[in-house]
Amino acid sequence: MAGKRDYYEVLEVARSADEREIAAAYRKLAIKNHPDSNPDDEEATERFKAAAEAYEVLSDPEKRGRYDQFGHAAFEGAGGAPHYADVSEIFEVFGDIFGGGIFGDMFSGGSRQGRRARRGENIKCQLTLNLEEAAAGVTKTVQFDRRQTCKHCNGSGASPESKPQPCVRCGGQGQVVQQAGILHVQTVCPNCGGAGQRITDPCAGCEGAGLETQQVRLEIAIPAGIEDGMRVRLTGEGEPSPSGGPPGDCYCFVNVREHSLFERNGPDLILRFPVTYTQVVLGAVVEVPTLAGREELKIPAGTQIGDVFRLRGRGMRDPRGRGIGDLIVQIFVDVPKKVSGRHEEVLRELADLEKVNVSLQQKSFLEKLRDYFVHNEESTAQVEN
Ligand SMILES: [Zn+2]
Ligand SMILES: [Zn+2]
Repeated sequence: MAGKRDYYEVLEVARSADEREIAAAYRKLAIKNHPDSNPDDEEATERFKAAAEAYEVLSDPEKRGRYDQFGHAAFEGAGGAPHYADVSEIFEVFGDIFGGGIFGDMFSGGSRQGRRARRGENIKCQLTLNLEEAAAGVTKTVQFDRRQTCKHCNGSGASPESKPQPCVRCGGQGQVVQQAGILHVQTVCPNCGGAGQRITDPCAGCEGAGLETQQVRLEIAIPAGIEDGMRVRLTGEGEPSPSGGPPGDCYCFVNVREHSLFERNGPDLILRFPVTYTQVVLGAVVEVPTLAGREELKIPAGTQIGDVFRLRGRGMRDPRGRGIGDLIVQIFVDVPKKVSGRHEEVLRELADLEKVNVSLQQKSFLEKLRDYFVHNEESTAQVEN
């Protein structure tokens, strides 16, 4: 990505610019270089694309952080920075971001609407994995509801006996021209939603929506290392377009269940592992669990409570293909709740040796019981005498 311009330069903002300043700068550039205002001007289109790319990175705190730290190198490889091959992709992305605001209307529903049919709605589904599945990657079947073209009316929304009437507001164009300041903006007709027609007698099967709900089952490949809360896009698996355009996408939101042993921290896994006092004092080789099975870990003599050990490469894979994390073993001393017999004797000898004060040996419950009875019998005998 040599020769790429700095995103802050592209948007003509300071590195310290806040979200509002970045959005304002982008809006200004986007309007100035908008392809509709600069037909056949390749350079304006390039500036428009560059601004969109810079904006997508700098408006996202996580991406902006990475960019500030690593520059363009932060986005090399798969899942990197957005690179728009075609301005239409920008309309799709920013149509979403700006929702139905003036900016969104202008871009996604502007005069481009005439050339590009509206995409179908995006939908979402959910999937829950355990940590082992998230670590290795897995193929799962998801089930969700999706509205699909109604079979009764073939998507028109009108009953088979009736015909849709042309919309009176836009005269069947699906577009109306609105004025915003000095700009003439063509937007989707609010009366017919861009369809260009009104339904007088709605289809009984879909109540005029042109869509009916169907259950969908799909296989989905989850990449290794996926994190709780991430989503996987199933391109083209959303709802069909109402106007013959491409379908929307389905976003599968992934939950990863908590594991009984391992806690995830980014690419690393944390394992709290119990050892004994003698093991940390004298040193030991212990077997610790990893996601790939057991592994030996050497605990050197004199290890302190809270010391951590790293098993390199035994963590989680980065879902974007940037390396693999470690297993961090945090040891703690597992103190026995109760000791007795030889175990207790040896510990008491150790306490003597270390010249530390320990509590007196506790009498067992039976001993206490015997003492109690002996004492009572003695006092009774005294009374009798
Ligand atoms: Zn129908
Ligand atoms: Zn209309």
